[in-house]
Amino acid sequence: MSDAFDWDSFQPAFAIEAQRHGFLREDLLQTGAGALSAWTRADPGPVVYLSAGIHGDEPAGPLALLAWLRAGGCRAGVHWRICPALNPHGLAIGARGNAAGADLNRDYRTRMTDEISAHAAWLERGPLPALFVSLHEDWEAQGFYLYEINLGEDDPLQAERILSAVDPWFPRHGGDDIDGHVPRAPGWIFHEAEPDLADGWPEAIHLAKLGCPLSFTFETPSGAALSDRVGALEAALQTTLRFLPEGRCD
Ligand SMILES: [Zn+2]
Repeated sequence: MSDAFDWDSFQPAFAIEAQRHGFLREDLLQTGAGALSAWTRADPGPVVYLSAGIHGDEPAGPLALLAWLRAGGCRAGVHWRICPALNPHGLAIGARGNAAGADLNRDYRTRMTDEISAHAAWLERGPLPALFVSLHEDWEAQGFYLYEINLGEDDPLQAERILSAVDPWFPRHGGDDIDGHVPRAPGWIFHEAEPDLADGWPEAIHLAKLGCPLSFTFETPSGAALSDRVGALEAALQTTLRFLPEGRCD
């Protein structure tokens, strides 16, 4: 896999795979870099929402969702909602923010951007997810880490299983400060359902405020090879989806 991300080929490639697996497309917004698309396949079952590409300089997330789809990860018996590329302009040019330089993942409270205004409305008119998984990357990280927001029963084994699944790719981000947070264990930030910045809500806080009971945000080290970052995110996602009831993968 090349370390270059090609936005122009990603969009049609994802559409082909999603349609092959029975997903329906909804374009939430037209941007100068193409549509901001949401994909849904509403099987009877728990609602799972997957998100990637809100930071345009983090290409492994969109590519991991594409790889996961290609591998047939979207098993039956789940109501899937997927936004694989929330920041078309940023992904097209490899920039964190949108065309105006805004960090979309701090805009869920104020909704100043067209992207998040459209995306938050789509989230709110659909069913509440039982599980939210968000794929990110971190330029400052040396290893892998995750955020967990858990409004239900604490189950420390879940984070451990995810981190174990990623161990073949990356060490767990150590130290006593990860991205400004005190980790519960290496690689694991157990985050309250409150934002770090009062007006700078990220997507995961928005989902928690809506009532989504469990969310995981994964962060791979941006300096590593793209193929390893994609492989790690796909493994973390596959493991997380096994937490669902009757979590057998077809
Ligand atoms: Zn990010």
